[in-house]
Amino acid sequence: MEIVILAVVIAVVVLGAISGLVVSGRKKKQLPPSPPTAAVTPSVTAPPAEPQVGEEAETPSDVSRRTIEDTPLPVAEAPEAEAPVAEPEAPPAPEIEVPEPTAGRLVRLRARLSRSQNSLGKGLLTLLSREHLDEDTWEEIEETLLTADVGVAPTQELVERLRERVKVLGTRTPEDLRALLREELLTLIGTDIDRSVHTANGIGNGGDEIPGVVLIVGVNGTGKTTTTGKLARVLVADGKSVVLGAADTFRAAAADQLQTWGERVGARTVRGPEGGDPASIAFDAVKEGIAESADVVLVDTAGRLHTKTGLMDELGKVKRVVEKHGPVGEVLLVLDATTGQNGLVQARVFAEVVDITGVVLTKLDGTAKGGIIVAVQRELGVPVKLVGLGEGADDLAPFEPEAFVDALIGD
Ligand code: GDP
Repeated sequence: MEIVILAVVIAVVVLGAISGLVVSGRKKKQLPPSPPTAAVTPSVTAPPAEPQVGEEAETPSDVSRRTIEDTPLPVAEAPEAEAPVAEPEAPPAPEIEVPEPTAGRLVRLRARLSRSQNSLGKGLLTLLSREHLDEDTWEEIEETLLTADVGVAPTQELVERLRERVKVLGTRTPEDLRALLREELLTLIGTDIDRSVHTANGIGNGGDEIPGVVLIVGVNGTGKTTTTGKLARVLVADGKSVVLGAADTFRAAAADQLQTWGERVGARTVRGPEGGDPASIAFDAVKEGIAESADVVLVDTAGRLHTKTGLMDELGKVKRVVEKHGPVGEVLLVLDATTGQNGLVQARVFAEVVDITGVVLTKLDGTAKGGIIVAVQRELGVPVKLVGLGEGADDLAPFEPEAFVDALIGD
C-alpha cells in the first residue's frame, strides 16, 4: 500500500514538472521575435565624423550623389546591389547649406585677429608713443616685430622707415602714429598684389574649356583638408560649382573628412582606396570636373614631408598627371601660422618642389605671430591669399591687408 502511495506521489510530481515545462515553453514561444537587424541595415556607409562645425544632416540628394563610383567600397562588398530586402529608413530631409558670402569676411572676423595679435600692433603703438624714443625703445620695437615672426630683414627695414618718419613728424599725436604705422605696415605687406585665387576655366589640352584646377599642398596637420573644404564653401558661396579630389591618401580619415565637407555644399568628392595613388585620384577628379562641367576642381594632396625626394616625386607627379588634362590654375600652400620658423622651412621645401602661386595661413586666430605673413611672402615671393581664423566652416577669409592691419592696431 505504502509502495502504491509512494508511486502515486512520484507520478503526481513528475506530471507537475512536465506540465510546468510545457507552460514555460509556451510562454517562451509567446515572446515577440527579436528584431531582424541585418535586413534593414542601410546600404550607404555611415557618414564620417563632422569636421567640428555646426551640424547639418545630409539631404536625400546628397545621398543619391554618393554613388558607387565615389564611395570607396570594394566591388566584392556590394551586397546592397543584389538584395534590396527591406527599404532602409529614409534619412531626414535637411538642406544643402548656403555658406556665408565671402566679401568682407576678414572684417567680420577681425575680433578673432585682434585678440591674438594685440601684442604686435598695440605693442608697437605703445612703444612709439613713449615720450623719449631712445635706443632702448627702438630695440624693443625691433624685438616686438621679431617676436611676431616678421623676419629679420623686414623688421630692420620697418624700423629704419619708422625712425626716419618719426623724426620728420616732430610732435607725435596718437592719431599721427597710428596713421604712420598703418601706412608702413601696409607697405610691408603689400597692397597692390593680386590676391585672388585663380579659379577661372582653363583651355584643356583638347582645346575645350576645362574647370579651373587648384592644388592644395602642405604638411599634414597644417589644416590642409579643412582648408580645402572651407575653400569649396567659399567658391560655392561665390556661385561656383565644385568637384573635390581626395588625393591625400596618406592620412586615413582625410578622404572621409573632405567628402563630408563636400556633401554639405553639394560638391561631389572623387576618392580612391586608402593608400592609393594620389596622382590617379587627382587625374580622375579633374576628369569628373570636366564631365560635370564644374567650374572648379580642388585637389587635396598628401603632405608627407618624410624626404624632399619623396615629396617631389609625389607632388610633381600629381601636377604632371593633372596637366594631362590642361593647366593647373593655382597651387596653394597651406601653412600653420603657429609654427613660426618651422613653417618657413616647410614653405622653402615646398617651393623647391612645386611652383607655389599663393599661401593660405591657417590658425591665425590662435597666435600672436601674424608677422609670418610678411616673412612668408618675402620667402616665397608669392602672396598670402587666404587666412584661417578658426575651426568654423566659414572661418576662412580672403586676405585683405587693410582689414588685417586695422585689426592689428585698431582704428
Ligand atoms: P591636414 O592634416 O593638414 O589636412 O589637417 P586638418 O585639415 O585635418 O586640420 C588639422 C586641425 O587644424 C583640425 O583640427 C582643424 O580644425 C584645425 N584648423 C584648421 N584650420 C584652422 C584655423 O584656421 N584655426 C584653428 N583654430 N584651427 C584650424
